[in-house]
Amino acid sequence: MKEKILIVEDEKDIVKMLEYNLKKEGFRTLSAQDGEDALDYASREHPDLIILDLMLPGMDGLEVCKALKKETRTASTPIIMLTAKTQESDKVVGLELGADDYVTKPFSVRELTARIKAVLRRAKEKDKTAEILKLGDLIVDLSRITVSVKDKPVELTAKEFELLKTLIKARGRVLSRDYLLDTIWGFDHAIDIQTRTVDVHIRTLRKKLKGESRRIVTVKNYGYKLEHED
Ligand code: CA
Repeated sequence: MKEKILIVEDEKDIVKMLEYNLKKEGFRTLSAQDGEDALDYASREHPDLIILDLMLPGMDGLEVCKALKKETRTASTPIIMLTAKTQESDKVVGLELGADDYVTKPFSVRELTARIKAVLRRAKEKDKTAEILKLGDLIVDLSRITVSVKDKPVELTAKEFELLKTLIKARGRVLSRDYLLDTIWGFDHAIDIQTRTVDVHIRTLRKKLKGESRRIVTVKNYGYKLEHED
């Protein structure tokens, strides 16, 4: 399947030029003109790579990079930054934040394409050593952030995935609602809201996991655990 590239850039001419050239190279493209859309598309569309201009209106590219790396769903998506010559220090910050590479404007399409291919190749190598967990019919790929039951993909929200991942990592152990809320949502709330938030997500998660939902065991008045033995 063709790899999908998300272009985050507010300059329409550059977007057009990139879309044209990347399509010619056999990629699929989609584009976002600001940070908010970029985060939204990155999480919903699962691009294989993100080209991220650092100069954006509103939320700047570095903030976008940080937010992408923080979110489980997008954390492993490779990022190539577009920087201006005057942004030398931003480039370093971006790499520290987890961007994979950068290209300085004005850039040649050939150079950018070569970088894209190299980054995608490295990402694939990483995938091979990815952490994949199999529990009966349930397969969870922690680095690709995919879940399947009986080979059918299961679409989870970021929070549902976090919840499943946290339960899997602690499999066999009971985790309290407070612990789950703290780890996944990281905020304090009134007791009834706390309980509800976790419970509501557990409910939708169970529904989506179908036959494998039995693995999520309720420990009354306390929390949940994931049963890893059949
Ligand atoms: Ca720009």
